[in-house]
Amino acid sequence: MPKCPYSTHDITQTLRQSFRLQSFRENQLEIIQTTLSGKDCFVLMKTGGGKSLLYQLPAVLESPKITLVVSPLLSLIQDQENQMNDFVPHSCVSFTSGMGAELHNANWSRVRDVTGGVMMILVTPEKVFKSNKLKSELQKLEEQNRLGRFVIDECHCACQWGHDFRPDYAKISVLRTHFPRVPILAVTATASDQVREDCAKIFQLSSDYAYFRSTANRPNLKYQVRPKESAADVIQDMVAFIRENHPRSAGIVYTYSRKDADTVARDLCSAGIVAESYHSDINAVQKRDIHESWMRNETQVVVATIAFGLGINKPDVRFVLHHTLSKTLEAYYQESGRAGRDGKPSDCVLYYSPKDVPRMIRMIDGESNADLFVTMVKYAQQFGDDKACRALILRNMGEPNQTLEGCQGLSDMVEKRDVTSHAATVLQLLQLHRNENMTMPMLVKCWRQNPKQAPECVRNNPPGKDLTPSDCERIIVGLLVNKLIEPNCRYTAYDTVVYLSCTPMAVSFIKSNKARMTLPLPKKIAKTGKM
Ligand code: ADP
Repeated sequence: MPKCPYSTHDITQTLRQSFRLQSFRENQLEIIQTTLSGKDCFVLMKTGGGKSLLYQLPAVLESPKITLVVSPLLSLIQDQENQMNDFVPHSCVSFTSGMGAELHNANWSRVRDVTGGVMMILVTPEKVFKSNKLKSELQKLEEQNRLGRFVIDECHCACQWGHDFRPDYAKISVLRTHFPRVPILAVTATASDQVREDCAKIFQLSSDYAYFRSTANRPNLKYQVRPKESAADVIQDMVAFIRENHPRSAGIVYTYSRKDADTVARDLCSAGIVAESYHSDINAVQKRDIHESWMRNETQVVVATIAFGLGINKPDVRFVLHHTLSKTLEAYYQESGRAGRDGKPSDCVLYYSPKDVPRMIRMIDGESNADLFVTMVKYAQQFGDDKACRALILRNMGEPNQTLEGCQGLSDMVEKRDVTSHAATVLQLLQLHRNENMTMPMLVKCWRQNPKQAPECVRNNPPGKDLTPSDCERIIVGLLVNKLIEPNCRYTAYDTVVYLSCTPMAVSFIKSNKARMTLPLPKKIAKTGKM
């Protein structure tokens, strides 16, 4: 392996002098040495882990070589530019579409000037493959041996299996095609093995690229899943939760739809919590105003669809509440991970209703991540305590060793129940009605009808007082997750409808004496008004 041309002493001196930091965090020094040696690197490091330093520091060391950073959002570019210029004045310029030609040209002449002090250029992905100017300027730098490295920030955006997919990102590969000798540093906080392999292919990383990964564990975040019975209950619970735990701190609530965002924001406001909704129907000026007022802690809660995400750089977000499921557990990790970037204790709460499962299946119908959604549903259905939630998240991120194997901790709001006989009954019922199109609400209704009129399987084992309607839904979702029932999306003129049917495995489950199904179900406690 090529050696790093800088001594550890020199690298550490730069850390202290230019960045005013004392020591490196996990992996930082190794990554910096590897990229300085000219090797391609793929870095998976959790949010707040200190990814920027990985290219800021080499940029300083290698000056007057130039580091080109590709970043997906203007707000991220702005933050990065300010940060770098704070460390080393006038060392960083950006090229974005909104800029006038004059500034553009002035910036380029500063970059071209070897004594101009510029070390880093920030651009959006569009610039990389659309701008001939950028290409010809990079060409000139390359001829003078002044191209230090290419950095691809939030590189998971290139991959369509992950969330935040940006088609433009894949086209960044022209950098490698045009400048094959310049090392690439690809960084992200979120990547499964599949995402990483895809990224490596898309960016044409050399086959021996170095892979660094720090644990995804965020010890300061506390995870929990809370049952969601009705819209009113959730609002009541959210208000109580915010008042009790974070009366004056900023938070985010993620919702399924724009309409939900508006409703939840309005309901929180009615309860005296300053909240604004944020989604794609809101114009750019309003978006900026909401973002800024939240950054200043004037708006306490932003209620948003996932349109509010990438690029949020607020360190003191104390809670992220999910009003509904995310599309994948990885997306949930990423979204909830916007809490507690400053390392202080913060809460991540998922409100889960089994009714949201068909709703979400409808939304992701046709997308490739249906299986990834199953893991999200498992997370919700598991109703784990903090440890169990964390274990499942980390296992999903490919960190089985970090997890507490066999950890069975349950949220104190639920208890584990054996629902085998009820599961068998609902499967039999669904088989009986196999020629009708059964949706989840229809199946529940049919299951809970008066036993006197019901078919034999229900008559012999009615859900009765044993199960609430939402328990019934949870059992059906449990069967979906275990692939005993499968969903089929059908399109009508107005909507997509999810019909349920038994899979071949259902027959053996019904016949088997051994197969068991246990499920955490909300404890039956007398309602006190609070969930
Ligand atoms: P991310 O990985 O989310 O991009 P950043 O690069 O924004 O994280 O860094 C998060 C915070 O950690 C910043 O405030 C940064 O100054 C700080 N940081 C990074 N490296 C170190 C270090 N070695 N020692 C102390 N603080 C650091």
